[in-house]
Amino acid sequence: MLKVGVIGTGMIGQDHIRRLTTVLNGVTVTAVADVDAAVAAEVGGRIGATVHATGEELVADPGVEAVLVCSWGPTHEQYVLAAIAAGKPVFCEKPLATTQGACLRIVEAEVAHGSRLVQVGYMRRFDFAYRQLKHALDSGEIGTPLMMHCAHRNASVPAFYQKEMAITDTAVHEIDMVRWMFGAEIAAVRVLVPRRSSHGGDLQDPLFLIFEMGNGVLVDVETSVNIRYGYDIRGEIVGESGTASLGSLSPVAVRRDGRVANPVPADWRERFLAAYDVELQEWVLAISGGGQPLGPSAWDGYAAAVVSDAGVSALRTGERVLVSLADQPKLYDSGVTV
Ligand code: NAP
Repeated sequence: MLKVGVIGTGMIGQDHIRRLTTVLNGVTVTAVADVDAAVAAEVGGRIGATVHATGEELVADPGVEAVLVCSWGPTHEQYVLAAIAAGKPVFCEKPLATTQGACLRIVEAEVAHGSRLVQVGYMRRFDFAYRQLKHALDSGEIGTPLMMHCAHRNASVPAFYQKEMAITDTAVHEIDMVRWMFGAEIAAVRVLVPRRSSHGGDLQDPLFLIFEMGNGVLVDVETSVNIRYGYDIRGEIVGESGTASLGSLSPVAVRRDGRVANPVPADWRERFLAAYDVELQEWVLAISGGGQPLGPSAWDGYAAAVVSDAGVSALRTGERVLVSLADQPKLYDSGVTV
């Protein structure tokens, strides 16, 4: 049984604790911590876990073999660095950290440690449909990829959502996904601003992003975060000899009264429920017994941060913005991550 400590017992922290304790195998949650001591005590009490006053104290707990960071983004760096210093594997919800500099400090600390300890929570790589799409691409059946069309549509977003978040919080999932899908870095970003939807109030929504991949593939991403009808994630790869796309929204179609109806997921929790299960189960399997994590690495977290910053700059300036990454350390060479 892998003993995991969870820092941050908010929305996703509690959901991950639920899956670690009731869905997955070979893992137990032995400790929790949150700045809100009352919530931490309530969650910890429910599962019989030790409740720590700080994340650092949790990392130092000898009863914690691996750490899950689910706290607010700006706190990620300090907890991930503490886990690396303690030599403990750490799964960090996205973003790895909120600035490029902080991500790079994590990369450097992991490189100094000498082996991979960090995995970042980009869960699309574990989604059955995306894996099938990558399989279709890698099999060669559609030939060399030329373009990919993506759409990321949310029914609605909270009042605090700002236009930059369409890139930093929403399209960041496509940023990680296309780097993984095509095994190439994003070299340049453009953002086009269409007519504004009246459903978003003052928010500039939708946006139309264009990523130029280092291998020449061109990717477009529509972000529409007030689409109303549900949560709809689309992706179609155009290859030289065919296309491959994510399938229909639901495994069940109802035919009635001259229409075909496919239910649309309400939100990302519903759409990616199983992907989160697979993501954490594979993490547990990989690190149990001292192995290295195989999923999105600290380097992937850093690259996502750099591309996301380039996207924000492209949105603000209207210019095509080049992506400039640091030299990739050898530690991450081996790895097309899962
Ligand atoms: P949330 O409900 O606000 O939870 C964050 C929790 O961390 C809160 O309980 C917060 O306490 C606590 N916290 C804040 N500072 C802390 C500190 N210094 N030490 C320990 N705990 C601290 O947010 P969430 O929606 O769960 O998001 C958490 C993270 O998961 C974010 O980075 C988010 O981007 C990521 N996330 C990823 C996905 C995905 O698709 N992979 C989906 C959702 C969320 P207070 O409430 O008292 O501030």
